[in-house]
Amino acid sequence: MADTSKWVEGKVVGKRVWTDVLFSLQIEAPVEPFRAGQFGKLALAINDEIVSRPYSYVNAPDERPLEFYFIVINQGPLSPRLAALEPGDAAFLAPRPSGLMTLADVRDAETLWLLSTGTAVGPFLSILKTAEPWQRFRHAVLVHAVRHANELAYREQIDAIAAAHAGRFSYLPFVSREDTGYAIRGRVPEAIRDGRLEARTGRALTAEASHVMICGNPDMVRDTTAALEARGMRKHKRKEPGHITIEAYW
Ligand SMILES: Cc1cc2nc3c(=O)[nH]c(=O)nc-3n(C[C@H](O)[C@H](O)[C@H](O)COP(=O)(O)OP(=O)(O)OC[C@H]3O[C@@H](n4cnc5c(N)ncnc54)[C@H](O)[C@@H]3O)c2cc1C
Repeated sequence: MADTSKWVEGKVVGKRVWTDVLFSLQIEAPVEPFRAGQFGKLALAINDEIVSRPYSYVNAPDERPLEFYFIVINQGPLSPRLAALEPGDAAFLAPRPSGLMTLADVRDAETLWLLSTGTAVGPFLSILKTAEPWQRFRHAVLVHAVRHANELAYREQIDAIAAAHAGRFSYLPFVSREDTGYAIRGRVPEAIRDGRLEARTGRALTAEASHVMICGNPDMVRDTTAALEARGMRKHKRKEPGHITIEAYW
């Protein structure tokens, strides 16, 4: 029997199928409070062993059920099994949250830039659904970079955020492998270097005016950080406040 003593048992109460590989699970579980932007751990007992992976909370800290948005990695040990779960099924969760990609200790600025790839839009939705960014920043920009337009999930939640903060929120999708007429076709670091990100949002991406959070694909996190460093920004540390907060998903 797998040792489940370090885990709390949760129950799947909802499931959303976005594409053949993109899923959201809603789970009721007695986990400890978290800050928007943090992640928990989901786990299943597989062959008598607990297999766990980190997943960002998509729900705001005061929203229930808990929600996780994930992609199925075909050969991956856990994600295909998570995608097979249905309402009523059980999953284990770590009781404690983890992660430093939050607004704690970040200095206030004119614009909060939230730059994500793929499933990493999730923690930024959690942040945008709280009051904090709207109290501490004049404007928030959400960038969601994907390959195909059908991966631009959570449009209803994004529309609701835009409606609640009219004139203070910009949503800018990037779609790399098809023309859409509304998304930027290309990659985020290039759009920073050639000025398209600023032109499309009408916001200045400068060290004085910005805090930038970057989450998802490690290549995008690295190349975007380099593009921002070339503009005089530096990584944020608790003891040495900067302008860039990052989290790579692998
Ligand atoms: C802090 C943190 C938070 C995370 N939050 C999420 C989340 O909210 N949603 C989510 O889908 N994943 C998230 N991940 C990744 C997740 O933990 C798993 O790695 C992923 O679900 C695959 O698990 P697996 O066991 O099937 O395969 P693994 O053996 O863990 O991964 C196999 C390979 O899949 C690729 N991969 C992993 N995650 C992704 C991804 N999200 N998108 C594209 N390729 C990927 C990488 O190349 C990786 O080496 C997070 C990772 C970290 C470190």
